[in-house]
Amino acid sequence: MTRPHVVVVGGGIVGSAVARRLSLATPRPEVTVVEKEASPGRHQTGRNSGVVHAGLYYEPGSARATLSREGVRRLRRYCTERALPYDEVGKLVVALDEAQEERLRALEVRARANGVPGLRWLGPEGLREVEPHAVGRAALHSPTTAITDFAVVAAALLADAASAGTEVVTGFEVSGLDHRGSRVEVRAADGRRLFADRVVLAGGLHADRLARLAGDGPDPAIVPFRGEYHRLAPSAEHLVRGLLYPVPDPRYPFLGVHLTRRVDGGVLLGPNAVLATAREGYRRRDVDLGVVRELVSSRGFLRFARANLRTGVHEVLGSLSRHAFVERVRSYVPEIRHADVLPAAAGVRAQAMDRDGALVEDFRFSRVGPVLCIRNAPSPAATASLAIADLVVDRLDLG
Ligand SMILES: Cc1cc2nc3c(=O)[nH]c(=O)nc-3n(C[C@H](O)[C@H](O)[C@H](O)COP(=O)(O)OP(=O)(O)OC[C@H]3O[C@@H](n4cnc5c(N)ncnc54)[C@H](O)[C@@H]3O)c2cc1C
Repeated sequence: MTRPHVVVVGGGIVGSAVARRLSLATPRPEVTVVEKEASPGRHQTGRNSGVVHAGLYYEPGSARATLSREGVRRLRRYCTERALPYDEVGKLVVALDEAQEERLRALEVRARANGVPGLRWLGPEGLREVEPHAVGRAALHSPTTAITDFAVVAAALLADAASAGTEVVTGFEVSGLDHRGSRVEVRAADGRRLFADRVVLAGGLHADRLARLAGDGPDPAIVPFRGEYHRLAPSAEHLVRGLLYPVPDPRYPFLGVHLTRRVDGGVLLGPNAVLATAREGYRRRDVDLGVVRELVSSRGFLRFARANLRTGVHEVLGSLSRHAFVERVRSYVPEIRHADVLPAAAGVRAQAMDRDGALVEDFRFSRVGPVLCIRNAPSPAATASLAIADLVVDRLDLG
């Protein structure tokens, strides 16, 4: 009997985790990963904060809450087995005023409901024991929140899949997905073709376009949000031991500018969240007129823009003015001087938006016959990738 052929579109951490999971299945299908770039992991997977989120923020019972908790357990074990970077540096979420403290109390309730281990509520003295240079009125400490390098993890996952027989084809930009009986013809922009019994779409910033090629509906659409980073000069890196986060604004799905220790010893500041005018628009000057047209002609987006005008202006000011960006960071670590802050590379988040302009917070999947579409895999999908892979492979019904 011939083995079913599964094509995974997208060589980011989610596609790589799915490919590895498929390579462990019995009976093992034939697997091909196709990636449009010359090498995998170049987009969200290689341009993020590197934080293994412990599950503080997510609605209890949601896919993000359950898959991130399971993902942390699996990722920790995987990194240990494969000797990959994984360091439980711990996280402080810091409240600066009374209103933030109230929101932080609500966050603590949520984090406990999600089963985040080792949580502690700290006052100003307690928080300084954890982060000697930080200030704040109160803080929630999550000692098991960790850091890793998701690009390195993704490369290891793909290498595991490849050594079990998965073929990885780079430079293959999927431009057509045609249903042919029970099979799917996967076409590349340069005319190459593959035939698959099942297809998994893990295209990140292009998730909606790929889903539409497979015959799925247009919603949710992907709206790209650039996250700009700075970094601390080596002489100031001692000012941050682990991870320092603000109390998130509950109206917005992003976590706010944070200070992040990296596995290479550096400290990142950011990311902010500014609407990007290109899906892979890492520089402010990157503009894709198609994306701009899509945004301004979308009623949902216009509704979102009206509702979030204030936050948007605040983020744009932080983007245009380095001074404003650094001042935000200095409210948590006042000893950071403007001269200590250097530019760093940006990332772009794939954030799904529903037709009514609501940002989709949870992971979202859909299925069109033999095609499984991952329609929304925002943060913490890198943390949750191994658990997402289990769910996806289960839903493929490989028999
Ligand atoms: C600024 C920023 C900070 C973040 N911080 C964190 C964090 O600290 N912790 C965390 O857990 N998560 C974080 N995230 C989220 C995390 O990075 C993503 O959820 C995760 O990387 C998604 O992985 P992916 O494989 O779905 O997408 P991607 O890594 O974007 O991969 C998708 C791949 O699909 C390919 N592709 C697209 N279209 C096609 C096509 N037509 N044909 C072939 N290939 C195609 C792309 O080239 C790409 O390689 C952050 C994200 C950003 C942007």
